[in-house]
Amino acid sequence: MIHLKDINKTYQGAQPLHVLKGISLDIAEGEFVSIMGASGSGKSTLLNILGILDNYDSGEYVLGGTLIKDLSESRAAAYRNRMIGFIFQSFNLIGFKTAVENVELPLFYQGVGRRKRHQMAMEYLERLGLLPWAEHYPNEMSGGQKQRVAIARALITQPRLILADEPTGALDSKTSVEVMQLLKQLNAEEHKTIVVVTHESGVANETNKIVHIKDGIIGRIEENLDHHASPFGINGVMK
Ligand code: ADP
Ligand code: MG
Repeated sequence: MIHLKDINKTYQGAQPLHVLKGISLDIAEGEFVSIMGASGSGKSTLLNILGILDNYDSGEYVLGGTLIKDLSESRAAAYRNRMIGFIFQSFNLIGFKTAVENVELPLFYQGVGRRKRHQMAMEYLERLGLLPWAEHYPNEMSGGQKQRVAIARALITQPRLILADEPTGALDSKTSVEVMQLLKQLNAEEHKTIVVVTHESGVANETNKIVHIKDGIIGRIEENLDHHASPFGINGVMK
């Protein structure tokens, strides 16, 4: 599903910064992968390229059979909207919209009509246990509830790929466990391909494959066969 070959990225500026230095990585459909590394190692830059939110300078990125290079903004946006759901550390909910309005938004951009949008958003909120919160605003919800709204919003377009940038970074440990369990379930039951960026080994240990990144270079790749025996435990209970 994802093929990266020798990707390079430099941020231009007074002091050009070579952030990704030849990243090659393949991710198959249905994989649950984490990209782990210290702050500043290039994780978000890599995830933004994967999400067609940013361009790369050289190399090759093929997503679902399409070469992602020099797409017009409208084609990039259409492809992104159809293929990818995003989850961010800071939730990125719109503060003046209710939970259900936030979840509807991607369908609005796809031109789905108001009634259909609302109905689907309510279904996704229900699946995530958020029906009572449908008419509430983000600032009335806890961090975990906000992240679940964001996950509902990411899922509503039925994307094949979910990209999550430090999805538990703003959550306490109990809520982090719940969010990782939810992602695990989406991977296992709906075969979503999921890529999580994190600097926390406890989060990476919940995924099936851990890709270590350091200073813009991929190092070790660990198959995490043991991921059910992680410190987070199976049912979200801390061991
Ligand atoms: P991580 O997510 O692993 O913390 P990032 O990919 O965000 O790392 O950043 C890698 C490096 O690139 C950092 O030194 C950061 O300051 C720099 N950087 C990130 N985004 C930009 C940008 N838009 N312009 C210039 N430098 C940037
Ligand atoms: Mg980052």
